[in-house]
Amino acid sequence: MTANPLNAFSIDLEGWYQSLRPDPDPVPLAKQKDGIREGIDRLLTLCGRRGVKATWFTLGAVAELMPAELRAIAEAGHEIASHGYGHDDVDALGPEGFAADLAKAEEILEAACGQKPRGYRSPKWSAGRAGTWYFDALRQRGYAYDSSLNPVPMLGARGMRHDVHLVRGVAELPPTAVRTLVGWLPCGGSLGLRNLTHRVIAKRVAALNAAGEPAMFWVHPWELAQRRLAGRMPLATRLVCNVARVDLEQRLERLFGEFPFGTALEALAAREARGPLPEVENPAFREAAR
Ligand SMILES: [Zn+2]
Repeated sequence: MTANPLNAFSIDLEGWYQSLRPDPDPVPLAKQKDGIREGIDRLLTLCGRRGVKATWFTLGAVAELMPAELRAIAEAGHEIASHGYGHDDVDALGPEGFAADLAKAEEILEAACGQKPRGYRSPKWSAGRAGTWYFDALRQRGYAYDSSLNPVPMLGARGMRHDVHLVRGVAELPPTAVRTLVGWLPCGGSLGLRNLTHRVIAKRVAALNAAGEPAMFWVHPWELAQRRLAGRMPLATRLVCNVARVDLEQRLERLFGEFPFGTALEALAAREARGPLPEVENPAFREAAR
């Protein structure tokens, strides 16, 4: 176990429409298999080349469709975590629906790769609109951590924290954001990771690490397999998905060369080795009443 900050690299293992969903299921998941597989292969190769183990927040629906791929990811030494079953917003599912979705996804992931997930990420950062019941459900099923409270107000809520903290017994590893002239932006993933300069991103990671905190990065397989998926996207989605100032693979390669990255579980262990996490009884949920 290292006492130095170790940053977390994660992948949300899903189809492309699930991140944006202009309308439900424009392309069935089964028809996206080739694109998802291409993204997985590229990410496994990149991580292998740099000796980085990642956390794969996997949809139960993807594990059901591609168990062999999931097994290969686990056998390469990566961590398999949960992204729910069908990418439904947790606040819409409600406490009972969420508990059922969590259990269903867990069963499928474990059957596919033999790993019981220890971490969870809510679809589309929807945990930020849930309530403390969300963390209670994770704790009751034995989850060690969550990575869903987005400190970018537009994506999560105003007042969400940037450091690793403990909510009702579950560690929260927030996705990394950076303050810019236009406000807080995602920095460890999505449009920010593809369009900010390397200098801005590296400076933010260095600042977090200097404060003893890990950065949390996240990518999607479709971001590395755009050419194959592009032909199937509606025009508006294609524009959003393809807005990239840089080649994401090269960008990650450079960041992996400059900073230590590992799984979320490893990053959490390294953080915990430096001292107790601050405890937050009730995070800044968008609708805290529930
Ligand atoms: Zn997702």
